[in-house]
Amino acid sequence: MSLADKTAAELVALQAAGGASAAEVADAFLAAVRDREPKLRAFVSVDEAEVKRQAATVDAKRRAGQPLGRLAGVPVAVKDVLCTRGVRTTCSSKILDNFVPPYDAHVVERLKAEDAVILGKTNMDEFAMGSSTENSALQTTRNPWDTDRIPGGSSGGSAACVAGRQAPVSLGTDTGGSIRQPAALCGVVGVKPTYGRVSRYGLVAFASSLDQIGPFARDVTDAALLLEAVAGHDRRDSTSVDRPVPVYTRTVNDPVAGLRIGVPKEFFGEGLDPEVETAVRAALKEYEKRGATLVDVSLPHSPYALAAYYIVAPAEASSNLARFDGMHYGHRTKQKADLIGTYSKSRGEGFGKEVQRRIMIGTYVLSSGYKDAYYVKALKVRRLVKKDYDEAFERCDVVMGPTTPTAAFRIGEKSDDPLAMYLSDVYTVSCNLAGIPGMSIPCGFTAGGLPIGLQLLAPPFEEEKMFRIARMYESVTDWHTRRPGV
Ligand code: GLN
Repeated sequence: MSLADKTAAELVALQAAGGASAAEVADAFLAAVRDREPKLRAFVSVDEAEVKRQAATVDAKRRAGQPLGRLAGVPVAVKDVLCTRGVRTTCSSKILDNFVPPYDAHVVERLKAEDAVILGKTNMDEFAMGSSTENSALQTTRNPWDTDRIPGGSSGGSAACVAGRQAPVSLGTDTGGSIRQPAALCGVVGVKPTYGRVSRYGLVAFASSLDQIGPFARDVTDAALLLEAVAGHDRRDSTSVDRPVPVYTRTVNDPVAGLRIGVPKEFFGEGLDPEVETAVRAALKEYEKRGATLVDVSLPHSPYALAAYYIVAPAEASSNLARFDGMHYGHRTKQKADLIGTYSKSRGEGFGKEVQRRIMIGTYVLSSGYKDAYYVKALKVRRLVKKDYDEAFERCDVVMGPTTPTAAFRIGEKSDDPLAMYLSDVYTVSCNLAGIPGMSIPCGFTAGGLPIGLQLLAPPFEEEKMFRIARMYESVTDWHTRRPGV
């Protein structure tokens, strides 16, 4: 077994026992990146010399007997929407093509403080808008299970590199499903924490009231390990919550006694692929066999969640993206123009089609005369979506259903049809609107060999219990151990 096949927890233990150095681990993953990048295109930047330098620093600290962090010598890939000091951060957009941040995002600081090695920056849909990573202005990432298919999005690079074993773990962001959906489509674990659990400082904002940063991993334990390393209060993000971070890895193997699983009928309706439904229902059966009780719950407003999301998210995006004006950062037009002309030409040249569409939708739904009909109405729906979950959680510990309506679709299949693309988020957006934690874990494959994801949704700040519930299933199944052919 190559070092690049090991999980983060295994790599930490192995290095602590003297079985491998951080330099050897880094070399193994750099070799895996070199080997599979021509097919996967998961990374937008990898600085090999810098990776080796970081690994050597960890080894030197270890030799000197200095205390080491909980991710000592673990390579971590980071979505290119998270600022990295001195390292280009593009958001996979032409407008930030040459942007080198002068500071690290909070989560990147946390990774460094835990002695992780930042392996590289991963490809994404431009400004995290999309569900396939095809909206990247830089390259198209492929699904390791079938390279003619999309890896999901927007954190497609972070999902593909973990599934393709180029990195043991990675960070992504989830505004409407961008961690859980690509995790499901690539057959890995992906976690969207409670809103406020992880600081958004240094995350290039898409929709600030929905954005959260979270881990991708091959198993639940590694996801728990990465989340406990990056979570916690940070005064630079006013929405970050000051509340202790449990040591998730300590309890992850404790099963939940008397587990009650809420099964919402709204998650099993029209549009759900029968193969996905079969796999998810089989997973629920497995829980029943382990003593869990399935409870019928209803989330009556979930049919309106997608529409509300596609108003709230563009509204916030149109405001957040106003800062890209060709003056402060990134691309500025070469065409001669006055001030307003320079703004609009720079933005017209720098933003891709989907980003422009979102800015226009967002500006429209916020404009005077339409604001009450769209934006304010969507906020009311959002409140009702949250209330549905509050009521459901009075009757169960966790809500379960499919993460996505179908397995990975073909490259190009939906790229000309924004509405079809938006519909792939139908089961993931309500979690962000409600601010609750959610995750996707592997629960099977289609007959064609494509991974299927089971979604778990929990009450606010119950990540600890959510991990234990996920691990209960993982510990009796082997989906997470299968590897793609790439
Ligand atoms: N696919 C959704 C969108 O395009 C979600 C994106 C995300 O979570 N960043 O908005």
